[in-house]
Order: sequence, then structure tokens, then C-alpha cells
Amino acid sequence: MRLLLFGAPGVGKGTQAKLISSKFNIPHISTGDILRQAVKDKTELGKKAQEIMSRGELVPDDIMIGIIKYRLDKSDCKNGFILDGFPRTEKQAIELDSLVAELNLGELKLVNIFADEEEIVKRLNNRRACRNCGSIFSVSEIEGKDTCPKCGAKNSFYLRDDDKEEVIRKRLEVFRNTTESVLRYYQKQNKVISVNGLGSVEEVSDQILKSLSS
Ligand SMILES: [Zn+2]
Repeated sequence: MRLLLFGAPGVGKGTQAKLISSKFNIPHISTGDILRQAVKDKTELGKKAQEIMSRGELVPDDIMIGIIKYRLDKSDCKNGFILDGFPRTEKQAIELDSLVAELNLGELKLVNIFADEEEIVKRLNNRRACRNCGSIFSVSEIEGKDTCPKCGAKNSFYLRDDDKEEVIRKRLEVFRNTTESVLRYYQKQNKVISVNGLGSVEEVSDQILKSLSS
């Protein structure tokens, strides 16, 4: 099982990645994480990446592909992996395809967790965090309460910046613009599994598992 995981901010992609990863015992590889790791380990590519990032520039594709290659070549990826955060452009998708062929990793599938943008905005905008313990609740869970159910703090609920409507809309727009061409690329090859992300965690993961086994 070689999966690329796609999902707009707010659809619970991270939760689903963890579930799939433990269910199939395959690593969840976030490109942000492996990039940070390469920098920390001071590998050749990590050093190059750091130099570029310190100038405020984006890490170029060939370095990113090199870092991904190093990770996918490890033995724990033999039975599969979930790649998260890559590719973001059609060019990267083409390069990833040749890398996967070179390492003989088998066929990729793209799991696209989609959701209506207005619903995502509503969902996130309806969240409140506790200033004291960081727990997140929906407005309905704490209606009429002034005490945090988790830690007992008084009047500690607030709307996080990340959950504010204009911030969410901006992030959704960036997501839409960067992923559309990648989705199209894999759709042309019939490699996309699309799953509605607005159900409960269990409903979404059931849908994903069902589509993967059919
Ligand atoms: Zn609290």
C-alpha cells in the first residue's frame, strides 16, 4: 500500500494518516518532518536545504526528491508508506513517479479527503480552545458553560487565530491552488480514491479502508 494523502486543512488528515499507519503497519512520512530530520542529521542534502531555507527560499524539487528517496529506500517502507505533503505540483508528481519506478516500490494511490469548503469554514469557526490546557471543543459542547470540562479553568475559552474565518479561507485557497494540478495528474491515471471528510473519524476511516480494499 503506497499512498499519497491529500486533504484540505480542517478535514482531519493527520488523524486519518495515524489510523491507516497503525492499521497496516506502514510509516506515515510527512515531508515537513523528514526535511527537518535531514537538517538535524546534517546529511549532505540536509545541509544544502538548510542553506537555501536560511535565505528564505523554498527547497528546490531535486533536493526534496533526494530527501524523499533516502526515506523511501529504508526497509520499513518495503510493505508500503503514506506520504504526506508531497507532491504539490505536477512536475513533482512526475519526478515522484520516476523515483517510485527506480526504487521498484509498486503503484501509488492518492487518497483525496475532500469536503465542502463552506462546511470546513463552519466547522473550524465553531471551535473554541481552552487558554489553560489547549483542549478544543465545539461551541455546542460548552454552551452555557464558563468552566473548562478538561482542566476546570474559568472563562478560558477563545477562538484561535487558525480557526478564524479569513485565515481558514486563505489556507483553503492556497491548498486548492497547489493541489488541483496534482489531483488532475493522478486522476488521468485512475489512481485517485476520493472520500468525503465531513463524517465522524470512524466514518471517514471506514470509507477509506473500503475504497482501498476494493
Ligand atoms: Zn482547559
